[in-house]
Amino acid sequence: MAKRTVQRKSEPPFDASHLVNAATAKLRAYDPGHDLPALRSRFGAAIAELGSNENPLGPSPRALKAMRAALAEALRYPDPRGSALKRALAAHLDVDVARIALGNGSHELLMLLAQCFADAKHSIVFSQFGFAVFPIATTASGARAIRVPALPRSHRSAPLGHDLDAMARSIRANTCIVYLANPNNPTGTWFDDAALAAFLDKVPREVLVVVDEAYHEYVDAPGLTTAMGVAGRHPNLVVTRTFSKAYGMAGLRVGYLVAHPDVVGMLERLRESFNVNNVALEGAAAALADKPWLAKARAFNRAEREWLRGELLERGYRCLPSQTNFLLCVLPRDAARLERHLFERGVIVRPMGGYGLPRALRISVGSRAENRRLLKALP
Ligand SMILES: *Cc1c(COP(=O)(O)O)cnc(C)c1O
Repeated sequence: MAKRTVQRKSEPPFDASHLVNAATAKLRAYDPGHDLPALRSRFGAAIAELGSNENPLGPSPRALKAMRAALAEALRYPDPRGSALKRALAAHLDVDVARIALGNGSHELLMLLAQCFADAKHSIVFSQFGFAVFPIATTASGARAIRVPALPRSHRSAPLGHDLDAMARSIRANTCIVYLANPNNPTGTWFDDAALAAFLDKVPREVLVVVDEAYHEYVDAPGLTTAMGVAGRHPNLVVTRTFSKAYGMAGLRVGYLVAHPDVVGMLERLRESFNVNNVALEGAAAALADKPWLAKARAFNRAEREWLRGELLERGYRCLPSQTNFLLCVLPRDAARLERHLFERGVIVRPMGGYGLPRALRISVGSRAENRRLLKALP
C-alpha cells in the first residue's frame, strides 16, 4: 500500500506508518465512493441515490414518533444494556434475552466477533464476492483470510454466490470463524435452509458460523427462512440482523445478533458500553412493533425490484437473481464508463471494481421516481 504522509502548513511532518500496529497497517480507510452531501446540494431533488441499499420508504411513522420523543432524553446516556429493545427483540424472535447482543449497526457486531474470537494464530473463512466487511474484520483481528472461490457465473440458482461445499472443505484446524451472508451483498444471491443445515453438519463445533441476514426481512424464496431455525442444534451459530435495510433506519445505526449466551457474554466484554444511542434504541423497538409498515416495505420492494429488473433487461442489462433490495447487473464490458455517465446525471450506483467485478454495477431499488430517473439516464 502507498505510504502517505499527511502534512498541513502548520504541522511538522510526521509519518504514523512506523507506529501503526501490524493489522491496521494492512487496512485502508473506507472509500465512500462519492461525496454524497456535495452531490445532494448539486443535484437537489433530481438525485437518485441507488448506491447504498437504503429503503426509500424510510422508517415507520411510529418509529419516527418514538425517536422524536427520545430526543428529549438526549442529555442522558442511553441504557448500556439496551434492555427494552432486547426484550422487544426476544419476544419478536421467540428467543431468550441472553442470546441477544446489540450493535451500532451490524457492521460493528461483525467486527466485534473477529476482535473477540480471532487473533494472529487463527484463520477466518469467507467467500469471494462475500460482504466487504468480512475481509476487513479478518485483517483487523490479525487472522489469516481464507477466501473461497465463489460459484461460477453459470451456476443456475446462485451465480457468483457462496460455494458452501468448498467453504466447508477450506476450514483448517486453526479456523475460528466462517462468515456467510444470506442473502449476500453484493451478489444478491442466497442458499436455502437445507443447504445451510447440511453445511453446519460439516463444521466442527469449535468454529463459529456467522450468518449475516441483513436482508432477511426481504426474502420470500421457497425453502429460505432464517438460520435461526437451527440455532438450537448448533451452539456455534451466530445470526446478525440490522435495522438499516427493510426497516429503513440506516442513519440510526442499530443492528443485533443472536447467539449462544456464552458467545454473547464474550462480546459483552469488549462491546462499547453505550454503543447504541437512545434515539436508535427507541426507534428500533417502535419499528419492530409496526408490522404493517414492514409488510408494506417488503411488498413495495418485491414489486419494484421485479419491475426494474424487467425494464433493465428490456434495455439489454442482465441482472443476477436477487432476494434483496438491490440488483447486481453484469455488463458485457467494463462498467466504469456507465457508472460515470449515470453519475453525471445525478444517478448514484455502486461500481464493483473493488470486489473484483469490474463489469458489474450494484443498483439499489429506489422509489419509483428514482428508478425512472435511472432508466431515463441510461445511454
Ligand atoms: C447493509 C449490510 C449490513 C448492514 O450494516 P449495518 O452496519 O447494520 O448498517 C450488513 N451486512 C450486509 C451483507 C449488508 O449488505
